[in-house]
Amino acid sequence: MIPLFDMKRQYLKLRGEILDVVDKVFSSGRVILGENVREFEKELADYMGVRCAVGVSNGTDALILSMMALDIGFEDLVLTTPYTFIASASAAMWVRALPAFIDVEETTMNMNLKKLEDVLKGNENLNPKRVKAIVAVHLFGRTLDLEKLKDIQESFGIPIVEDVAQAFGAEWKFSDGDLRKAGSVGKISAFSFFPTKNLGAYGDGGAVLTNDGELCEKLRMLRAHGSKVKYEHEILGKNARLDEVHAAILRVKLKYIDKWNKRRVEVAKLYSEFFENERLTEFLEYPKPVDGYMGHVFHQYVVKFKSEKYRETVIEAFKKREIGFAIYYPKPLHLQKVFENLGYREGDFPISEKLSNLTLALPMFPEIRDDEVEEVVTVIKNALKG
Ligand SMILES: *Cc1c(COP(=O)(O)O)cnc(C)c1O
Repeated sequence: MIPLFDMKRQYLKLRGEILDVVDKVFSSGRVILGENVREFEKELADYMGVRCAVGVSNGTDALILSMMALDIGFEDLVLTTPYTFIASASAAMWVRALPAFIDVEETTMNMNLKKLEDVLKGNENLNPKRVKAIVAVHLFGRTLDLEKLKDIQESFGIPIVEDVAQAFGAEWKFSDGDLRKAGSVGKISAFSFFPTKNLGAYGDGGAVLTNDGELCEKLRMLRAHGSKVKYEHEILGKNARLDEVHAAILRVKLKYIDKWNKRRVEVAKLYSEFFENERLTEFLEYPKPVDGYMGHVFHQYVVKFKSEKYRETVIEAFKKREIGFAIYYPKPLHLQKVFENLGYREGDFPISEKLSNLTLALPMFPEIRDDEVEEVVTVIKNALKG
């Protein structure tokens, strides 16, 4: 049996350290908005090279609070892709705005920024004046072109909310050679610390980051009932705080994240080598690490088969051999019932639809062993060539 993701292996290594900080939090009697959230926010902001970080309850709330902070509202449009987790798009609906979709690129599986520019220039049948924000998702751990994003944000004057839920620690190399982290160029960036993410808590958690002082203050109010001073409510807020216990654990884990991300890249390289050696490239395409820097942190390792039949065959073999897998995402967002009022139809976003039919996520986590990666590839080989 090889799991898609295994939390227990990591916990067993960190058990002493984690139980120690958990005990300190519980013994202190301070479990909401204490020193751990405060210190974690500083450490996170430092790590990202951003001025302000605000710990929140989860990644979905991080996106919703971003919408609220930017005053997105009734009938505004928020652009994102249909090939992502539901929250990237549904956050807009919580402020009565509407998501509008832009298809992804087939190779990176991220938003097609050329198409985005076309829409913002008014070249597509969508009124660019109604577009009030863009949710830019770094899908599966692969960084979008941050230089281009920054450029688009500045030249069109539309705030970008980076959805960094899947790309903690990922970077982009700017043309002047500067390395900057995913989550450092958007007006606001939203993070999730859901247990399976690269930096995961033992429950729900999230954060919003910004370089804008006013937005920072507003986000702090929004996560705590719209108040700065207790029982003085200036704006409409939520209860969306990060718990002390999760912040304490995240502070422990933050020290290891670079090491874990490096191991993910190593595992991806290993997959590549096996696929090449076994000549499986006639059946599937696989994602490659970015040369020289952390352009992809492999939150998920997602291959794309050359036919649906190949994918079915491999899934059958995985089930027999108890190898974990997942399909991200089996139904693109524009075809989801919750969005049926938006009026999209099958065929509207052909790349997203194609990827939904052809992709498969393989086991990927820092603690996976080399021999397990080899076994996964062997099972694929035998299924496709046997
Ligand atoms: C996980 C995820 C979220 C939501 O995070 P939660 O903490 O689960 O609410 C948002 N966007 C993307 C792309 C995600 O993968």
